[in-house]
Amino acid sequence: MRIKHTLLALLFGFSACSPTAEVIHETHFMMGTLVEFTIAESSGDTDKAITAAAEEMQRIENLFTIYGDQQNAVKTFNTSKPGTNIELPKEIASLLNISLQIAKKTHGAFDPTLANLNKLWGFSQSPPPTSPPNKQAIEAARSHIHCIKQINANWQRNTDQCQLDFGAIAKGFAIDRGIEVLQSFGIHNAIINAGGDMRIIGNKYGQPWRIGLKHPRKEGAMIATLPLQGDISIVTSGDYERFYIHQGKRYHHILDSNTGYPAKASQSATVIASNATLADAWSTALFVLGEKGLKLAQQQQLEVLLIDKDGNIHTTPSMKVRLQ
Ligand code: AMP
Ligand code: MG
Repeated sequence: MRIKHTLLALLFGFSACSPTAEVIHETHFMMGTLVEFTIAESSGDTDKAITAAAEEMQRIENLFTIYGDQQNAVKTFNTSKPGTNIELPKEIASLLNISLQIAKKTHGAFDPTLANLNKLWGFSQSPPPTSPPNKQAIEAARSHIHCIKQINANWQRNTDQCQLDFGAIAKGFAIDRGIEVLQSFGIHNAIINAGGDMRIIGNKYGQPWRIGLKHPRKEGAMIATLPLQGDISIVTSGDYERFYIHQGKRYHHILDSNTGYPAKASQSATVIASNATLADAWSTALFVLGEKGLKLAQQQQLEVLLIDKDGNIHTTPSMKVRLQ
């Protein structure tokens, strides 16, 4: 689905002799969310560039999704007989390697092998559930990051519970691929925003882009607005994105593989990283880790704004500077 609206926007601060500055917006529905392309350039083949970027992002979604009827290598792996060798396409093996490295660094807070558990909770299904699964089913569905191993070019899973789910990283990877496509068309001032997860490049006709950080409990309110420019990826994981309240308790889509239940430490975790793939994976990991993950985040050169379960804000020093 594609919604297109090219705006001729008069930018404040733009010099009087300049013509109106064109900001192009185009929205596509994919990866279960609205993906908005914004381009602050009037020259070049912006139309073709956005179409090509959207097609590439759709290709990435098709490659990694574990939902829908279309077959892909991730689904083949997830239904393979435990202990058999499966060769994964390069892009999948590469993202899996990045995922497993982050899983290792976060001691499984980020876990790309919990598709089985995730399906049981059902947050990606339509309509979403309204009550949690029972304890025994959760226990039976759990797996462990060590359930998967690489043997040269092949991969094996060792139990039926061990199933890949790239839901916490593939959106970021798709954004990175989309930006690369825009750049290949000569575009250097743009944003790809996939439901609040974004990578920005350049600026808005000499002004920084202004990016709002959502308040996790006040619909429509912002925690802060950051002026950003250059090449920056900023991604948020939050317990308000997909959730239901059952008997007064909030159940949401980011799971703690230690317990098998939705992670409890945070309301939201926002990460700025060098690319959207890393920002996406680490925002999920830091959401699960909560405040205690900030030291690790700093060691990884990440900028983080974390809102803990009680609504208190914690930041890394570099993020604090941006907020001032
Ligand atoms: P995100 O919204 O980027 O934080 O990713 C959440 C999605 O990633 C969920 O819908 C699941 O598909 C998957 N997921 C849930 N919990 C985890 C986790 N602890 N580690 C990795 N992926 C997860
Ligand atoms: Mg993520």
